[in-house]
Amino acid sequence: MNSSDVLNDLRRRFPNEPEYLQAVEEVLTTIEDAYNEHPEFERYNLIERLCIPDRIFSFRVSWVDDKGRVQNNMGYRVQHNNAIGPYKGGIRFHSSVNLSILKFLAFEQTFKNSLTTLAMGGGKGGSDFNPKGKSDMEIMRFCQAFVAELWRHIGPDTDVPAGDIGVGGREVGYMFGMYKKMAREHTGTFTGKGIEFGGSLVRPEATGYGNVYFLLNMLATRGIDIKGKKVAISGSGNVATYTADKLLQLGAKVVTMSDSNGTIYVPDGLTREQLDYIFKLKNIYRGRIREFAEEYGCEYFEGGRPWGVKCDIAMPSATQNELDGDDARTLLANGCIAVSEGANMPSTPEAVHEFINAKILYAPGKAANAGGVSVSGLEMAQNAQMLSWSAEEVDKKLKDIMANIHAQCLRYGKQEDGYVNYVKGANVAGFMKVANAMMAQGIL
Ligand code: NDP
Repeated sequence: MNSSDVLNDLRRRFPNEPEYLQAVEEVLTTIEDAYNEHPEFERYNLIERLCIPDRIFSFRVSWVDDKGRVQNNMGYRVQHNNAIGPYKGGIRFHSSVNLSILKFLAFEQTFKNSLTTLAMGGGKGGSDFNPKGKSDMEIMRFCQAFVAELWRHIGPDTDVPAGDIGVGGREVGYMFGMYKKMAREHTGTFTGKGIEFGGSLVRPEATGYGNVYFLLNMLATRGIDIKGKKVAISGSGNVATYTADKLLQLGAKVVTMSDSNGTIYVPDGLTREQLDYIFKLKNIYRGRIREFAEEYGCEYFEGGRPWGVKCDIAMPSATQNELDGDDARTLLANGCIAVSEGANMPSTPEAVHEFINAKILYAPGKAANAGGVSVSGLEMAQNAQMLSWSAEEVDKKLKDIMANIHAQCLRYGKQEDGYVNYVKGANVAGFMKVANAMMAQGIL
């Protein structure tokens, strides 16, 4: 394979999909050497079959708002690859959702799921529905209309969706309820469900906690203690808040959080009471992070991102391409020693280049945020057995999985000078398993 030939061909065929092309480019350029050691892969044109999704469903979602007006959104499910298990990946509700974003997420998910060591393929779905400002009833009607179409394409052994941006426990509950009604079955078709109807303990916490566990593994390679370290987090949703929660438990200082309107800055670190306030603000009152600054009188950067403040560690946990080359240079100049991604592809290629060039600890999302889908996999296992495991049991498995992902990154990403390129490590490790499974199953 010549990665630039493959990329040029994909650019010609999918010219309007920049995020998808960005994600593919990052993977192809790092796996090229490993791929080319296996001439049989090339004979079966494996790379193209791995880059192009198995299938994509797109559909109109019509629903009625509280004023009685009929609203129409687009719904999608990208089933990317099921070589190692059923398609698995979240559902995103955000006005920016389009096929480029979902294809990049489904592609990334395939490698991430492979790294978890669990039997899960890769998929992703969502809608350009904007949940902001919608009433609970509107959210419910939208979720039901979305699943009225989607349910035909998913199932416990086929495709298992979960949450993502704009989709948390409430939305998963409504979607699962509708699925159950349409399919007339109560199975583990969604993950992130409520505890009362098949959800797993520690699933809400899993992505954030998992990212911190991964970070601890990285820091250990350099003998660095997390205690007292200043951490800049972006976002204030599921991933960001549970990242902050675990960091506080470990004695680190969380100095920023944000939303799409701005960033709060607390130089001495959030207190537990302040984090609880953010949790309530976001999950119960569905307010803005600005309200935290008003309540506690801290600094607030309207429209600003967290990356300009002094910190030791950055954990971008909001959305793709939220940290660019300039942000990376500012972080490095301010003494940042580690970046561990909670979001998917939050750093632009230029930013990634800066981090790797500076040889700081840098973990890409597909490794560092894999804890969420890992506990989703554990939820599927519990559902299949009709059992539920204790929080301690799930948390222990999560820690082991993150340590295992870290070990795979070391195995494939350690350079001659000892520096660990986690991007390469994660991509090659994730790729080899999927590639071998695809080879064994023939051309499909
Ligand atoms: P949530 O919807 O719970 O939170 C998203 C947060 O990011 C909110 O604070 C939101 O602010 C902010 N945000 C969203 N879009 C933008 C944007 N365009 N610009 C600036 N801020 C933005 O989502 P999650 O916490 O679940 O997901 C966050 C990231 O983590 C995503 O990249 C997701 O793919 C990834 N991820 C999530 C997993 C999970 O288990 N939930 C698993 C693995 C990865 P606002 O409220 O203003 O929109």
